[in-house]
Amino acid sequence: MSRYAAPGTDGALMSYQPRYDHWIGGSYVAPKQGGYFENPTPVTGAVFTEIARGTAEDVERAIDAAHAAAPAWGRTPPAERAQLLNQIAQRMEAHLEELAVAESWENGKPIREALAADIPLAIDHFRYFAAAIRSQEGSLSQIDEDTVAYHFHEPLGVVAQIIPWNFPLLMAAWKLAPALAAGNAVVLKPAEQTPASIHYWMSLVADLLPPGVVNIVNGFGAEAGKPLAASARVAKVAFTGETTTGRLIMQYASENLKPVTLELGGKSPNVFFDDVSAADDDFLDKALEGFTMFALNQGEVCTCPSRALIQRSHYRGFLDAGVARTEAIVQGHPLDTDTMVGAQASNDQLEKILSYLDIGQQEGARVLTGGVRAELGGELEGGYYVRPTVLEGGNDMRVFQEEIFGPVVSVTAFEDFDEAVRIANDTLYGLGAGVWTRDGARAYRAGRAIQAGRVWTNCYHAYPAHAAFGGYKQSGIGRENHQMMLDHYQQTKNLLVSYAPQKM
Ligand code: NAD
Repeated sequence: MSRYAAPGTDGALMSYQPRYDHWIGGSYVAPKQGGYFENPTPVTGAVFTEIARGTAEDVERAIDAAHAAAPAWGRTPPAERAQLLNQIAQRMEAHLEELAVAESWENGKPIREALAADIPLAIDHFRYFAAAIRSQEGSLSQIDEDTVAYHFHEPLGVVAQIIPWNFPLLMAAWKLAPALAAGNAVVLKPAEQTPASIHYWMSLVADLLPPGVVNIVNGFGAEAGKPLAASARVAKVAFTGETTTGRLIMQYASENLKPVTLELGGKSPNVFFDDVSAADDDFLDKALEGFTMFALNQGEVCTCPSRALIQRSHYRGFLDAGVARTEAIVQGHPLDTDTMVGAQASNDQLEKILSYLDIGQQEGARVLTGGVRAELGGELEGGYYVRPTVLEGGNDMRVFQEEIFGPVVSVTAFEDFDEAVRIANDTLYGLGAGVWTRDGARAYRAGRAIQAGRVWTNCYHAYPAHAAFGGYKQSGIGRENHQMMLDHYQQTKNLLVSYAPQKM
């Protein structure tokens, strides 16, 4: 085991500034109303920086800067935009460990995941959209001998992006890379819990970006997010966060008839058919690993496999093995390279998870392991740690229906294929799902029958840039990742041209 030094301490790879203002028009701008709020690290609970508290006036200023930059940026050749995205990726790669430390310290996630997943995936996202924009083509339809219809992709102009705290840099990359590739200028509002890692990223890439092309306004949802989403001067609102907030965002944007993409909550089923336990040891091992994925990123993942459905014929044996595997998860200091589960992102989130553990027990769920705050002692005493928890109960319980967003899985049994699909779909969400079986036909039929935007089959929690991601039902509108994402950031211009020498 080794431990990265905390930001700003001896031997640290990076340090945060003591204060972050808004990033507008290529420089730091103090908040118009002068307010700041404190940003604590979930690792210890100690405040490590303070952040400008944005208001509508700051949002207006950022939108002004974006409008000033948008026309020239939108006219740059695709190859030039692609080059810039590749340069961003290269810069991030050169600073990968620093970015991982920044992310881990601000969000509480284990450094090994930030190093192996969050930052590399964010880097790849910029590369993917660099390639996507280079290879994008318009089209031409021949109307008659002398008349053609050209179809061009045009940027939307200035777009608003509002993101959550669970993957600060990856969520920023998912939004920024396609928007910039398509030629838009952006006003981005990070979550109030995790703005600093995005500012740290900006400090690394600022010299690459023309001023005003990316603007960052910090602050709270009601004070900074709402005026941004409600602005008549943005052409589109892209949002990731809770379903209840998504509903508000849609209302705000509808006032000005602005399109929205929404990536919202989930309560994803992870379905284990009985042939899994009869399979070879390697496959069973892989499936058990899949069971424990509910604890990845402390369960703070929109696609967290928070409901495990296990076929009754192998229920007890598989579940016992899953619980044993859960108990072997190493929880500890997020900057230790051995740590598999770190801290919840905020004290509010910690309290919310603990209250759901109470709710579950009150409604009759059995705690098979965990169920409590993790007391890790020492400097971690003030941090926000929850033991990975396995609950057993029925799908009508609140802990099976409501998004807990913590390292908690609710487990129940099913008899046969039809019941598995019925329980899997008995939720208002439809973001992710997992299906585990060696039977190819059963895997295919289950994957098609489960109402979710992504069904992982014999795997889970993989997020390649070129696979479409998004929600069915109340989990969202639109898709992210994949080149189809460019459609959400472009509009179609049709030129209908007559080359006929005489009148028609
Ligand atoms: P949240 O909805 O509370 O906040 C998300 C963002 O919206 C933050 O920046 C916040 O400041 C802002 N916001 C809050 N209220 C607002 C308002 N009235 N107007 C404008 N902006 C407002 O969500 P969260 O707690 O930060 O994130 C966790 C949620 O995000 C979970 O529900 C999770 O499932 C979801 N999520 C979804 C995806 C996905 O791709 N579907 C990915 C990650 C997280």
